[in-house]
Amino acid sequence: MTDPWRLVYEGYDPHQEPLREALCTLGNGRFATRGAAEWAADDGIHYPGTYIAGGYSRLTTDVADRGIVNEDLVNFPNWLTLGFHPADGHELHDPSNQLHDYRQELDLQRGILHRAFTVRDSSGRETHVSSLRLVHMANPHICGIKMEIVPLNWSGDLVIRSSIDGAVTNNGVARYRELRGDHVAVEATGETEGIIWLRARTKQSDLGVCLAARTRVRSGGCEPVLPDESAAVGGRIDGLFAIQAEAGSPTTIEKVVCLRTTRDAALGDMTEDTVLGARRAGSFEELLASHEAAWKALWDRYDVEVDVAPGSELTPHPIQLILRLHTFHMLQTTCPHSAGLDVSVPARGLHGEAYRGHIFWDEMYVYPFYLWRDPDLARALLLYRYRRLPEARAAAAEVGCAGAMFPWQSGSSGREETQIIHLNPRSGKWDPDHSHLQRHVSAAIAVNVWTYVAATEDRAFLATYGAEMLAEIARFLVSMTTEGTDGRFEIAGVMGPDEFHEAYPGAAEGGLRNNAYTNVMAAWCIDKALAAFECLDLRTRKAIVDRIELSDEELERWHTVVTGMTIPVLPNGLIEQFKGYGDLEELDWEAYRAKYTDIGRLDRILKAEGDSPDRYKLSKQADLCVLFYLFDSAELTDLLSRAGYEMTSDKLHETIEYYRRRTSHGSTLSHIAFAAILDEADPQESWEHFVQAIRSDVNDIQGGTTPEGIHTAVMAGTVRHIIERFAGIRLTASGLSITPHLPAAIGRVRCTVRWHDILVTLDVDRRRVGLEIPEASRVSVPICVCGTPVTVEAGAPLEVDYALKT
Ligand code: BGC
Repeated sequence: MTDPWRLVYEGYDPHQEPLREALCTLGNGRFATRGAAEWAADDGIHYPGTYIAGGYSRLTTDVADRGIVNEDLVNFPNWLTLGFHPADGHELHDPSNQLHDYRQELDLQRGILHRAFTVRDSSGRETHVSSLRLVHMANPHICGIKMEIVPLNWSGDLVIRSSIDGAVTNNGVARYRELRGDHVAVEATGETEGIIWLRARTKQSDLGVCLAARTRVRSGGCEPVLPDESAAVGGRIDGLFAIQAEAGSPTTIEKVVCLRTTRDAALGDMTEDTVLGARRAGSFEELLASHEAAWKALWDRYDVEVDVAPGSELTPHPIQLILRLHTFHMLQTTCPHSAGLDVSVPARGLHGEAYRGHIFWDEMYVYPFYLWRDPDLARALLLYRYRRLPEARAAAAEVGCAGAMFPWQSGSSGREETQIIHLNPRSGKWDPDHSHLQRHVSAAIAVNVWTYVAATEDRAFLATYGAEMLAEIARFLVSMTTEGTDGRFEIAGVMGPDEFHEAYPGAAEGGLRNNAYTNVMAAWCIDKALAAFECLDLRTRKAIVDRIELSDEELERWHTVVTGMTIPVLPNGLIEQFKGYGDLEELDWEAYRAKYTDIGRLDRILKAEGDSPDRYKLSKQADLCVLFYLFDSAELTDLLSRAGYEMTSDKLHETIEYYRRRTSHGSTLSHIAFAAILDEADPQESWEHFVQAIRSDVNDIQGGTTPEGIHTAVMAGTVRHIIERFAGIRLTASGLSITPHLPAAIGRVRCTVRWHDILVTLDVDRRRVGLEIPEASRVSVPICVCGTPVTVEAGAPLEVDYALKT
């Protein structure tokens, strides 16, 4: 049976390496390193990237006669490099070497990457190699490798090279290669008492980084040795060891690395402190023990266990394993070590260079993953956005609006980082990119602010940050509206989440009128900003209103906009995705499915054919249907009705049906949304979307996107789906509410959530809900199981038989 804690790969397959590297990335919320082999450099197969949370820098490249500025999550110096070779032989990466009995294993429970193989060189010498790697979860500056080498059929002189390689660029995504990626300049290298170090700096953002490696080699029972020499070669520093290897006798190499940056707290001299950090770090075994303990603490809180019905299991990777893989990568991207940093969650993790490490509306899908287990971390993530309010205000002002317009792609400063032209890999042409017109990103931020406050009742947060954020977002959305001839409010010049429609057919200008999702979310945001003010005492409210100079007239207008927002409607009474969608042509879906194996990216297909997706009724992903993901039918009906649109639940269901038939699911987010949207109406299709979501990264279902970085929205979204939809757990200000909705394929869910500082462990099956809170918490938690209120007392586990109650 497959171990549900281990992702195992047997055999070496160069084509699989990019995917394995992304999925075997190790990180600790501060930095992460792809799971590239220790001997590998950026060579077209391997790509050993190291990324630091918030470590961005910009470069300008001349493309198509314009200076294109791109901000990247920088690929920092590679600390992995560790290799050996017989003194008269080739280094490990040499193509004449053959690798046998190759096995790679990611141990999710312990946070360790293990690799073992036998290498046979052209002279027939065979050497067995095994390595363990960690990026320390307790001390976020430390990472390390322990490697054991056993010559199997030879003895002789062996050279070991342990390096830090600063000759790195951002080169991980083929379609960005025409743009510059030379962000890192090596400033100095050196060796201090056997510890090699390298100091570098990003060229534009001036982020300094220092890496120091303490390598010790132990062979044949002798004491560990220091490097015989160190050498600086082309931006790389090597520690070299020459030893006498004996057949059958193991040589052990421990490489412990300290990584510090100029943004670290408690830093004096960066180089000195980094070298000191490497020297002071314990032995690899000691590091392993504290690392495992840190992971155990995280798993105690974050693990979600599921029982999968036999016929529904996935192969070769079972659902339980994938869920843990998702949890693992989310925690490596963002965890308590990130809380003190000024960062949020990049859409593609710290695992690759796709979307340049930027932060999108995906945060909305990701956020509850942290909120339910660690509200303090969730709060810290919101502050990333709060600190960028001034930039968002400036962006709004620049387009003639009031309030705060958050960028579609956010990086270091919070300015808009979306490219204005984009390379279509199918056609090789640079197409204009209007995706920055997705103003709904501000609504996603408002959703996260509101969800946090609703779940935690953190009034201090609301008073200091949240209300101001909601107000400035509302203000922006109101100022985007214009009054139509019918006296209703309209929003023009935007794109919805469906990125296929960028403009009206043939229009020179990008943007659409009255995207239903944007308009409904605008009304919701304004309503919540008003509600937030209601929650505050008069003095606090006045202080905020004075600070942001919000006038009574503006507030008056907010009320009018909520009740007068335009929501476009098709002649058949269904909501129209945007004004004019109904006039577009139907696409011949069958013809495209027959012609192309994967039609997810119909936009690229149509553009490469000289056509345009703007002409057709099609969507990349859930657009207005995201409303059904965020709100239940009653909430949505109420929102629409307040704007003056009465929709029966039948009409809402028909709306879902209409758009699902016209969606290509070209974004993994779409599977998350539709899995939730369809869970009542079509459990089978809902399950299929869930399965697609869960397979997205481990099977790289989009054929090449995962090697460029994981998809955090889908990883967090699947875990969220299990907790929120299957176990039916909601965190509310007044307690937990649980309404299980287990699909045929999942018989039981066990998880822990934190409500007001109290960890509640839940065990949900088809018949009952088991509830437990630790004795030490000395409190009780109000819980509502399928509408029946119960109270769980500390140290007194409770079982509620909900099947009998419903
Ligand atoms: C999706 C966006 C998403 C972005 C980053 C795109 O492919 O269409 O909705 O925000 O990826 O994940």
